[in-house]
Amino acid sequence: MATKQPRVIVVGGGLAGLAASVRIAEAGTPVDLFSMVPVRRSHSVCAQGGINATNEVARQQGYSEWMHMDETLYGGDFLNHQPPVYDMTHWAPRIIDLLDRAGVPFNRTSEGRRDLRKFGGSLFKRTHFSGATTGQQLLYALDEQTRRHEAEGHVTKYEFWEFLWPVLDDDGVCRGIIAQDMRTMEIRSFRADAVIMATGGCGAIFGKSTMSVICTGAAAARCYRAGAWLGNPEMIQVHPTAIPGEDKCRLMSESARGEGGRVWVPRKQGDDRKPTDIPDAERWYFLEERYPAYGNLVPRDIATREIFNVCQEGYGVGGGNMVYLDVSHLPDETKHKLDGILEIYEKFVGDNPRKVPMKIFPAVHYSMGGMYTIYATEEKKPVEGDEGQAIGMKFGDPTNMQTNIPGLYAFGEVNYQYHGATRLGANALLSCIFDGLYCGLGTHNRVTNMDKPAAELPDSLYNKYIEQEQAKVKHLSEAQGKHNPYELHERMGSEMTAACTVVKTEERMTKAYGVLREIKEQYEDIRLSDTTSWTNANLGFARALGDMIRYAEATLLGSIERKESRGSHYRPDYPERDDAKFHKTCIAKYDSAGDKPIIEWEDVPCPLVPPRARTYGKVEVSAESAASKQADLDNKPGGEGYSQRPSETSPVYGTETNGKDASAS
Ligand SMILES: Cc1cc2nc3c(=O)[nH]c(=O)nc-3n(C[C@H](O)[C@H](O)[C@H](O)COP(=O)(O)OP(=O)(O)OC[C@H]3O[C@@H](n4cnc5c(N)ncnc54)[C@H](O)[C@@H]3O)c2cc1C
Repeated sequence: MATKQPRVIVVGGGLAGLAASVRIAEAGTPVDLFSMVPVRRSHSVCAQGGINATNEVARQQGYSEWMHMDETLYGGDFLNHQPPVYDMTHWAPRIIDLLDRAGVPFNRTSEGRRDLRKFGGSLFKRTHFSGATTGQQLLYALDEQTRRHEAEGHVTKYEFWEFLWPVLDDDGVCRGIIAQDMRTMEIRSFRADAVIMATGGCGAIFGKSTMSVICTGAAAARCYRAGAWLGNPEMIQVHPTAIPGEDKCRLMSESARGEGGRVWVPRKQGDDRKPTDIPDAERWYFLEERYPAYGNLVPRDIATREIFNVCQEGYGVGGGNMVYLDVSHLPDETKHKLDGILEIYEKFVGDNPRKVPMKIFPAVHYSMGGMYTIYATEEKKPVEGDEGQAIGMKFGDPTNMQTNIPGLYAFGEVNYQYHGATRLGANALLSCIFDGLYCGLGTHNRVTNMDKPAAELPDSLYNKYIEQEQAKVKHLSEAQGKHNPYELHERMGSEMTAACTVVKTEERMTKAYGVLREIKEQYEDIRLSDTTSWTNANLGFARALGDMIRYAEATLLGSIERKESRGSHYRPDYPERDDAKFHKTCIAKYDSAGDKPIIEWEDVPCPLVPPRARTYGKVEVSAESAASKQADLDNKPGGEGYSQRPSETSPVYGTETNGKDASAS
């Protein structure tokens, strides 16, 4: 019997981490919440365009939770797990109601209803938004709820503490973490009966991305090196519309296109007139012409490849790697809804995008892959609009979103479950909050049924890990080698971006894998410019670089071994989707003896929607086509893209734990 109250550690104070903390504290389990930065500075604060859910207005247009689910699976090229997506999309309207009640200032129509905008991969308006700063509004609302629990003593925050390693007992069960206070540099252990990783994406392995610079993926990589598996690490999303910067790339959100923004290039190669001097008939709206139904709102991987190809063919602005994203024709009140991003463009580029088309190019944006997780399933009562069997996750099950390590969970962007081979715009915020609110209950249930609580384990278990981390710090601080960690990171980022983003070939990726091995050797021979023992950011970065290299290796090897094209993973040497061989999750396991990833494959069950070809109704047209075709944005469901009904009932997958041994101990 437990003699002390169980505790849960949440690592990460973005939307996933805050939602989990609130849910678990509310259920009665105390939470210790860790974040490298103040939680209100977590990357989630940068999210711009919105969060998807059906509502009564969307429903009147013929939309439903089922269609939201179907779009998500079609967008993900059927690599997503269907039961979790079923629940995520069916809980979405309730999540929006809850956020509304928590004070999120969603935009409203003149009738006072929550306004909706269009987003990629849908023919319906179903994205809720707060101007173009939706992430900030959501994060602040959940932060307030967390503070309430903090004031009541149910949540303890550790801001500026960096997660270093999970503590595993002799049975391989997670029993806490080792963390470092990045101000005093103290390294300590923290006991817990479950640990939730909510540490976000891994954009920094590509050098620059639209993610915050703290999104290194190092926390996930440390868990991977400790024995947690990665799922689909090769699935990285490149967003079509960003502006490059010295420090990072800045996103021009899909909301710009959702509100009517148009992507174009001059129809004539090398046309060097100012964009405002080029008449409409001489502009090539290539997305609208090639995808008449979805137009500028095709999913991101498709828009990105089209932009990339148009530039490769020499149609880029000024012959370079740029296309126009144009909102200048929109009415002022529509532009006002985009102020949040238009101001960013004006500040960093200097042009006024309200008057002049923006120059944009794709940039690394999101990781669909992440830590491998499992779940339990159950049949649900179908709701209106459901077109087949309703199977979701078993509510409150302790295995929901648990990794292969019992007691270690992954929520939010670091969890690989929901988005398959491409994430649809405005589905990430939803998956983060859904994980926290829905799966947080399962974590609470696990810790309330523990036979042997962490509080009763011997100190020696924790001291061993503290010594391990202290030794790493000592090694890095005393290293007198010749390589600068920032230079190594830059080299890794350039190599990863060149080899493993929009277009991936065996030859280029194999070369990059060799370069990574070289960088790994050089990493053993580095020298820090700052070795002080107070707020040493240099040390934190150098330590994270070692982990980033391992994550990058898994991303590359998974990409090399997935010999097909699916969603964001485009291989010109294997241009077709190959369901027979690769309708499977790529699992990367860390081989500590060989210090390398081992790739294995696991079938993806499809109990709800059978896979179908993912074309988005493409038609072949060229820049010389006689006339621009107008996007038929009023297309009705059942046109290209939407599933009719599943042809037959598929067997239930993993009624308990997907066949994995993940019993709570
Ligand atoms: C520019 C941009 C705009 C976007 N806009 C949208 C949008 O409009 N709609 C949408 O659905 N999605 C959007 N996304 C995606 C979405 O923002 C993210 O997927 C989501 O915010 C991730 O939330 P999270 O809680 O998983 O992680 P994050 O918000 O990244 O939080 C991670 C947390 O982990 C902590 N952490 C990390 N490592 C450690 C460590 N070692 N030790 C301690 N703490 C650690 C960090 O401090 C932070 O608190 C956008 C993404 C970008 C890049």
